[in-house]
Amino acid sequence: MFVDPTEPTMSDSNLLACTRQGLYCPAGDFYIDPWDRVDRAVLTHAHSDHARWGCKKYLAAKSCESLLRVRLGNNIDLLSVDYREKLRIKDAFVSLHPAGHILGSTQVRIEVDGKVALITGDYKLQPDPTCDPWEAVECDLMVTESTFGLPVFRWPKTQDVIEQLVGWWQENQRQGRTSLILAYSVGKAQRILAEVLANCGPEVAKDIAVHGAMLGPNRAYRSAGVQLPELPSAASLSSSHDWSRSLVIGPPSSQSTGWVKRFADPSFAMASGWMAIRASRRRRNVDRGFVLSDHVDWPDLLTAIDACNPKQVWVTHGFSEVVSRYLTQRGISARVLQTHFAGEESEPATSTEDQLAEESR
Ligand SMILES: [Zn+2]
Ligand SMILES: [Zn+2]
Repeated sequence: MFVDPTEPTMSDSNLLACTRQGLYCPAGDFYIDPWDRVDRAVLTHAHSDHARWGCKKYLAAKSCESLLRVRLGNNIDLLSVDYREKLRIKDAFVSLHPAGHILGSTQVRIEVDGKVALITGDYKLQPDPTCDPWEAVECDLMVTESTFGLPVFRWPKTQDVIEQLVGWWQENQRQGRTSLILAYSVGKAQRILAEVLANCGPEVAKDIAVHGAMLGPNRAYRSAGVQLPELPSAASLSSSHDWSRSLVIGPPSSQSTGWVKRFADPSFAMASGWMAIRASRRRRNVDRGFVLSDHVDWPDLLTAIDACNPKQVWVTHGFSEVVSRYLTQRGISARVLQTHFAGEESEPATSTEDQLAEESR
């Protein structure tokens, strides 16, 4: 049956509606992370499942601009604003608040007739040297992701994970093996680089190389003011390069490609929230799994909801049924929001991030 694409299938008056093109604010006539080409899109961040090409006008956080232009092209019509700057769009007031997920990631606060909706996008509460920290925003309606919304997901301290990672690298150096860490090329790779360099000192950068898919994102991070050294792509180094002391970062999809053949007896590791699960480590066929995620774990998801104190929660991306049921049992009105796209950290299907990395190899 034909359904008007802008017909709200789930809505809270003219504040926020879920339509076939994604979340829509009727009062302001704009979409948040639309799934389709629309006239006005507010973007939470530059991951490809959120930032789609082809919209007429975009609004995003200032710190997201360099990354968005790398991913969507220099000629997009983009208005970038500071965090917490209040804009009026038709009958809605809009402001962007840090989400702590990756560089420039934002939560979108929408206020219509005194009612507030908060679309969190992807977010995490753990500290990350490459982006502004998540901030609590009080709201009536909260839209939250639930990528890791199960009680088994509890992240270890980042510092402990980085120390394990550096220990693994040093052990591989002693054995003359290349340390090859698989991580998403936008966000996770830069976070690992920043953390490793802070832990070991800037001089270790001479032993680090990256996959070509990370050069553009790395440049975008630097131009947004994040301290990252210029690192060579592995493919740009000579065929006689000695990899025995190297730490190399590649996207998850690179493991099964010819790209890895250049490295001397590589030891594979993966950095992802999924590494908390033994079956995922086995499926990925890696020597080591480092539990490092740019999404909230179970305790932080509940902490965030408590801090934002919503009357109603719409749950999306991941274990939305579980989270929705749990919240309902706790007396918070909650429901599942269907999405068209799996998140960049979805398992076990090939993620959009992987596909992008594959295309740009
Ligand atoms: Zn994301
Ligand atoms: Zn996502």
